[in-house]
Amino acid sequence: MDILAHGMWAAAGAEVLGRKVAITRYDTLGIVIFALLPDLVHLLPVIGWVAFGGGTMRDLYEYVVATPAAEPVLPPIVKELTHHLHCIGHSAIVAGAVTLVVWRMRRNWLIPLLGWWLHIVIDVFTHSLDYYPSPVLYPITYRGFDGVAWNTPTFMALNYAFLAATWIWLWRTRSRRIVP
Ligand SMILES: [Zn+2]
Repeated sequence: MDILAHGMWAAAGAEVLGRKVAITRYDTLGIVIFALLPDLVHLLPVIGWVAFGGGTMRDLYEYVVATPAAEPVLPPIVKELTHHLHCIGHSAIVAGAVTLVVWRMRRNWLIPLLGWWLHIVIDVFTHSLDYYPSPVLYPITYRGFDGVAWNTPTFMALNYAFLAATWIWLWRTRSRRIVP
C-alpha cells in the first residue's frame, strides 16, 4: 500500500486502540512511525548514493515510483542493500524475532511495534505476484501472496474512500478516547 495510506490506517488503528486501552501519545506516534519505516528504511542506500555517490534526485524519484519492469539502474551494492532492507522491513519472521527481543528487553516498545505488524499484514494482501509480492517469509523465501495490487485506480479509490469514512467516524466519536 502507499505510504500515506499506511500512515493513515496506522493512526486510525492507534485511535481505536486508544479507546480500548490507555495508551500514550508517544505510543500513538510510535505506531505511526513504525508503520512508515518499512517503506522508508530501504530508501537510505539510494539516498546515500545520491548524496555521496553518482546518483541523482531523478534516480531517487524513479526508484520511489518504480514499477516491476521499469526500475532505475542502481549500483550493485545499492541494489542489494535496498533489496534486503525492503525484505527485512516486510518480513513477519524478522518482525517476530524483533518482537521477542523487545518483549524480553523493552516491553514499552511493544505497542509501537504494532505499527510494523500492521504494515506487514496490509502489504501481504495489497501486493500481487506481478506487483512486488510482499516477502513476508524472508529470509526463508521471497515468495509472496497474490493479493490485489494497491496501485490499481479502483483499489486506490476504494482505499481512500474507506479511510475517509473511517476518519469521519473517528472524528464524530472522538470523545471516547481513554486518557492514560
Ligand atoms: Zn511496504
